[in-house]
Amino acid sequence: MLKIAIQKSGRLYEDSIKLLKECGIELNNGNKQLKAVAFNFPIEVYFLRDDDIPQYVYDNVADIGIVGENVLLEKAKDIDLVYRLGFGKCRLSIAVPKSIEYNSVKDLDGLKIATSYSVLLQKYLADNKVNAEVHEISGSVEIAPSIGLADAICDLVSSGSTLFTNGLKEVEVILKSEAVLTANKNLSAEKKAILEKLLLRINSVKTAKNNKYIMLNAPNKQLKNIFSLLPGMKSPTVVPLAEEGWSSVQSVVNENDFWEVIEKLKQFDAEGIIVMPIEKMIV
Ligand code: ATP
Ligand code: ZN
Repeated sequence: MLKIAIQKSGRLYEDSIKLLKECGIELNNGNKQLKAVAFNFPIEVYFLRDDDIPQYVYDNVADIGIVGENVLLEKAKDIDLVYRLGFGKCRLSIAVPKSIEYNSVKDLDGLKIATSYSVLLQKYLADNKVNAEVHEISGSVEIAPSIGLADAICDLVSSGSTLFTNGLKEVEVILKSEAVLTANKNLSAEKKAILEKLLLRINSVKTAKNNKYIMLNAPNKQLKNIFSLLPGMKSPTVVPLAEEGWSSVQSVVNENDFWEVIEKLKQFDAEGIIVMPIEKMIV
């Protein structure tokens, strides 16, 4: 049995549960309890505060965990970053009141900066040879300048709207973060084997999301050109159409170059292009 710690409630909760579900893991109760057991996969889910997850993984209370990279680095426990999950994206940034003139990191010299990320901030200041005072607070960091508690803040930002409503501007990005899967360094062989199975599933879910299934009709004389655009997993599937000289081509296309590929396919006389989402993809 592998024990996984996820956030009890908050920004990572929904996506963590969704990921487990997409991996075919079904839980027998919600997050009202401290833990839930999956009935179709050897995994037990612990619901915890995100700040506690690195410590619990380090102490073997949980074997693996889903946590923001920002928390993983701030807690600086000797545990592994196993997989970047692609959700919970945000950045850890320094912000100052809009009215302050800001040109470079040197302008932070002598300021008092409020943050919940004192380890990461101290390191950033030291790396940039800035002499600022770090004031650790646990929440509502964004209001610190307006209540006179600090001159600047260092906090998580995604859209920037919280900064804006508090009269602040983002001036330095310290870290770009996303949710990651972290693991204890000394897992038993049995647990490692379960983790491998889980990673295969996570990877197939993630790969599927990055790809689309594509079907199209094309004249045979253009097939070579079309194959060059759609290499597929091994190679495209080609089925002759009832109409002489035409074929149906089936393949996968990466989300990132999707529109570019579609445009070129049309230039090579492709017709009746159908694109479908892929649920799982095992390469
Ligand atoms: P807990 O009660 O578990 O301690 P929390 O209030 O510390 O929760 P959340 O605000 O739910 O934490 O954020 C959890 C994680 O979500 C963050 O550590 C970060 O990795 C990620 N995240 C993504 N976008 C943002 C954002 N705009 N602000 C804060 N966190 C964000
Ligand atoms: Zn927290």
